[in-house]
Amino acid sequence: MITSIEKREVSLLENIFIKTGKVLAVRTWDTGDFYEVDLHLPKAKPAHWNTVQRIICRTASFHYCDYTPAQWDCSTKTCTLFIDGGHNGRGCRWVRSLQPDDALHYASIDAVKQAPAQDTYPIFLGDQSAIGHFSALQQLSPNGNAATGIMVVNKPEHKEEFVDKCRWLQLTPVSRDENYFDYLSAMLQQLPPKNYTFFLAGNSYLVANTRKFLREKGFQNGQIKAQGFWH
Ligand SMILES: Cc1cc2nc3c(=O)[nH]c(=O)nc-3n(C[C@H](O)[C@H](O)[C@H](O)COP(=O)(O)OP(=O)(O)OC[C@H]3O[C@@H](n4cnc5c(N)ncnc54)[C@H](O)[C@@H]3O)c2cc1C
Repeated sequence: MITSIEKREVSLLENIFIKTGKVLAVRTWDTGDFYEVDLHLPKAKPAHWNTVQRIICRTASFHYCDYTPAQWDCSTKTCTLFIDGGHNGRGCRWVRSLQPDDALHYASIDAVKQAPAQDTYPIFLGDQSAIGHFSALQQLSPNGNAATGIMVVNKPEHKEEFVDKCRWLQLTPVSRDENYFDYLSAMLQQLPPKNYTFFLAGNSYLVANTRKFLREKGFQNGQIKAQGFWH
């Protein structure tokens, strides 16, 4: 049953600041807990997106969640959100309820201060909630350097699905029940000597522990761009 707090109708007060787009399509991964949501955002200005963005989506009455617009097209003003829907939260309930042609209400689209650097090679380290973030960084990459890195997925069955559904991200999938830091250590040992920037995103503990690990391995703070999403 939908409680009154989760009602879809936008209140008069929210109407003052809210913007509206449209859901074009929703694709659910075979695992049934991860969602790709295509949007049309007529009021957005994707031609100005020079860094990764976050869209603050209305998920229930006076409740908003950050998601990352990815795979945007400046001419059609469309983009795709990649949303982890396997936990219990209002954002999850909202994404599970979305249907094509639904209105998408959002408060704003703002820059998060992460953009690829021209003269370094990107390495992406994060979890499934960062698929949109890494896709956006890759889209913004000035030299088209495909990143390497690790994608921590929630369950073993997500590994195959990630490789199949996100072919543009050349990241090694590692599930939460495997030792991520063993994989990271092996990856670092095999890296050819180049100028790297590490982009960390997703669960705040994963991000903080990865930063600590990289610092212990001798990488400088300036080489590490970290963005904790949830804890
Ligand atoms: C700048 C920014 C960009 C973001 N972009 C994305 C994005 O593109 N896609 C995306 O999926 N998320 C993204 N997030 C994270 C998302 O905003 C949070 O995960 C949010 O908490 C989800 O809200 P919820 O209502 O579903 O869960 P909440 O009510 O916030 O949390 C409920 C419970 O679920 C846990 N939880 C929350 N998120 C996750 C998760 N991903 N996996 C497992 N457990 C979780 C919490 O620890 C809590 O115990 C982004 C966050 C930020 C700050």
